[in-house]
Amino acid sequence: MPKIRSIGACSKLVHGCKGFDPHTGAISFPIYQSATFRHPGPNQSTGYDYSRLQNPTREELENTLAALESGKACFAFSSGMAAITAVMELFSAGDHIVVSDDLYGGTYRVFEEIFRKHGLEFSYTDTSDPECIKASVKANTRAIFIETPSNPMMKITDIKVTVEIAKSSDALVIVDNTFLTPYFQRPLELGADIVVHSGTKYLGGHNDTLAGFVVVNDDDLSDRLKLIQKSTGAVLAPFDSWLILRGIKTLGVRLEKQQENAMKIAEWLKSNPKVEKVYYAGLADNEGYEISKKQSSGFGSMISFSLKNAEDANRVLGRVKLIAFAESLGGVESLITYPVVQTHAAIPQEMRERLGVNEKLLRLSVGIEDVEDLVNDLAQAIG
Ligand SMILES: *Cc1c(COP(=O)(O)O)cnc(C)c1O
Repeated sequence: MPKIRSIGACSKLVHGCKGFDPHTGAISFPIYQSATFRHPGPNQSTGYDYSRLQNPTREELENTLAALESGKACFAFSSGMAAITAVMELFSAGDHIVVSDDLYGGTYRVFEEIFRKHGLEFSYTDTSDPECIKASVKANTRAIFIETPSNPMMKITDIKVTVEIAKSSDALVIVDNTFLTPYFQRPLELGADIVVHSGTKYLGGHNDTLAGFVVVNDDDLSDRLKLIQKSTGAVLAPFDSWLILRGIKTLGVRLEKQQENAMKIAEWLKSNPKVEKVYYAGLADNEGYEISKKQSSGFGSMISFSLKNAEDANRVLGRVKLIAFAESLGGVESLITYPVVQTHAAIPQEMRERLGVNEKLLRLSVGIEDVEDLVNDLAQAIG
């Protein structure tokens, strides 16, 4: 079982689980670039047999993230979508899952295009309203899948309340914790059963590696996920595991700086006459602000904003200089996306419109640049 001494949040991030190579003392945990491992003799193993089953570099990363999320076990996958796919393999034809209606487009796509075909049933609802969750739960509901803050409207779902609703119907609570990471939010501590991550985003933090994680607190779920991981095989490679381990070391300093920048930019956007509305979890007028403060220790650095004029939104994408017009989020570089045609293109138009994902909406992932430069870039781009 992963163990990290009771030390401060940033110390935990820097020192990981073992934290260094016990054989040589190397401060940087080694990349065990080996597919297979020699057995000392018949019926003997070093603990490692074949890297799809386990690899020491991946194991160090999995144990580190399990400890950070207050979980018992973590499984590292080759992408966030591979991690979410592995979680869906826990369910069987006829099972029903309640899902946040404001969510990552790729998650919607894998549910609708892949898992519906296998007989799983999904209902999408506004999980920031507990009454909507209750109204969606059915006799065959086996899980509630939430994103909080949601993507891209930054709605907040109360994790504890969701857990209470799930308990009364024997459903699992699955939280996509990509936007806040365990540095700001630990859903397992609030009673959730499964945490998933796109490690591509804040955990990696440098827009250079794809990765995904599943973290659980329960031995039975852990055994079932281990079987799914080794059987289906979308494991994270040793080098990519090392990159994420290195990324995690600076997660705390990155997030603090990104959040500080995001707060200033959100305030600045609010005062801009061309901006219609700003969606950021850290603004006191955000609907879920009080719940955010209760269940998370930070608001993160994802901001969505709508411009009064759709042409202006389109123009911003062509005019930004320092901020890159690119998909993804969470890295040190600030990125701006157009959810309606990029991250959320897979979501049906009717659903997008209901949520407010329209031609006027832009999503900004705030990086660690000097905030004055980011504001100046936005100012010249918005015009
Ligand atoms: C990016 C993302 C995913 C998918 O992760 P990949 O690493 O791109 O496969 C899932 N959920 C959220 C919230 C994301 O932002």
